[in-house]
Amino acid sequence: MNQEVQKLRKQLRTLENKYQQLNQEVDGLHDSLRQRTLELERQKNVMKHQALHDVLTGLPNRTLLEERAQQSFQIAGRENFPCCFLMVDLNRFKEVNDTLGYHTGDVLLQEVAQRFRLQLRSSDTLARLGGDEFAVALPDTNATQAEEVIQKLMQSLTLPLKILDNKHTIQMSASMGVAMFPEHAQDVEGLMQCAEVAMYVAKKEQRSAVFYQPDMKTHSEARLSLVGDLKYAIENNGLELYYQPQLLTEGDGLPSFEALVRWHHPTRGMIFPDMFIPMAEETGLINPMTWWVLEEAAAQCAVWRAEGMEVCVSVNLSARNLKEESLLERVRGCFQRYHLPPEAIVLEITESMLMDDPKQASEVLHSIDAMRVEVSIDDFGTGYSSLSYLKYLKVNELKIDRSFVMGMQKNENDIVIVRAIISLAHNLGLRVVAEGAEDQGDWDTLVALGCDRVQGYFISRPMQVKAATVWLKKWISEHENI
Ligand code: C2E
Ligand code: MG
Ligand code: MG
Repeated sequence: MNQEVQKLRKQLRTLENKYQQLNQEVDGLHDSLRQRTLELERQKNVMKHQALHDVLTGLPNRTLLEERAQQSFQIAGRENFPCCFLMVDLNRFKEVNDTLGYHTGDVLLQEVAQRFRLQLRSSDTLARLGGDEFAVALPDTNATQAEEVIQKLMQSLTLPLKILDNKHTIQMSASMGVAMFPEHAQDVEGLMQCAEVAMYVAKKEQRSAVFYQPDMKTHSEARLSLVGDLKYAIENNGLELYYQPQLLTEGDGLPSFEALVRWHHPTRGMIFPDMFIPMAEETGLINPMTWWVLEEAAAQCAVWRAEGMEVCVSVNLSARNLKEESLLERVRGCFQRYHLPPEAIVLEITESMLMDDPKQASEVLHSIDAMRVEVSIDDFGTGYSSLSYLKYLKVNELKIDRSFVMGMQKNENDIVIVRAIISLAHNLGLRVVAEGAEDQGDWDTLVALGCDRVQGYFISRPMQVKAATVWLKKWISEHENI
């Protein structure tokens, strides 16, 4: 019996031991489970942070900004207080990146982030949207308070940033666009758009901060749709070339023409180049536009020549065309396709374009000269070129800017300038064309000053192809007997 009891006791102890062991194991399991959960939680937080923050600066990203701004605007809407939204873009950041390297660019962005952060309340959200673009949501802030914040942010940039072991300093600045809730828009997306539009205005006008105004949006929307329309016009033959004749002041040589582009907009009517060429230049559409102009002018020149009228046509190039590698190929292609001799097309390049990047312009001019194609410097006298530099440029013609020609009869100085340009050009062996001759007086003065060719309303306004052809045939018939 005793033995039985002892055996049972022993079994009981073993069972108790096992139970204890099991208990410990369960505890251990609990512990590691708890740790695992904590670790998962931590990882989840890290991932959430990464998903909502910018890696470089640690600032909230666009998603978090939108989330927070949304909340602020909801509360503001309920409680009836204003909020402000700022869009900030650093000035000349690309230059820093390009000249001093990405690392310096990164240091600069981090520094800006830190300086801005110090100027803001904890309830404000400063975010980096990408590149050198930041945004700030300021809950419970009216326009006057917003101005104070902007002042502080701008002020924080004034101290130059020391880089590369203090050997260099960078002076930072920014352009800001400001939009107010609920005045300008009632949702985050709308406010961001308004602030962005205002920021572009600030950049364009080189101002540090600009408050959004409703007509800015109409402008920018109108501009956007105009850019789209221009692209469509270039691709679908919606542009037209007008031709303005140039007459020789001596001898009976044939007139030549300058091709001037026009855009008949389906709803806005005729749009002049002064209006859409700057836009084409800003958006890069100037390249396809110029290729279209070149092709069209060459084709028309070939048509006139096929009818026995050996005229030359001048085509205007833009600064951006000179930077385009395919320019020479395009020009060569036009001469080949239309079997034109090199003198048939003259390329006009404005003086200011040549001065924009003289080294590159001079290289392009050499290549054009190698094709024996002639180049004219357009709007001469307005581009502040150094005259000594002219002699090294491979050009054939100077075209005196119309502002001097149109002023000749009222302003003695303008005559002096025109006379000097003509004499300079002739000394350099260049031909001179005067543009903007509007009456008999202009013509007589230019002839007396020895100008070689004259263009202007006095001779004819720019004409559509049909009218230009009629004009040319009439001129030829009137001069047949000379
Ligand atoms: P531009 O090359 O200097 O062209 C001469 C401009 O002077 C033309 O204006 C012409 O109509 C105008 N003009 C001619 N004679 C007179 C005159 O007696 N009095 C006055 N007041 N004006 C006269 P348009 O056609 O409006 O062109 C303006 C500018 O737009 C051109 O100046 C040229 O820089 C640019 N442009 C025109 N067509 C093209 C093009 O196909 N490509 C590029 N890149 N630019 C072009
Ligand atoms: Mg021109
Ligand atoms: Mg001109």
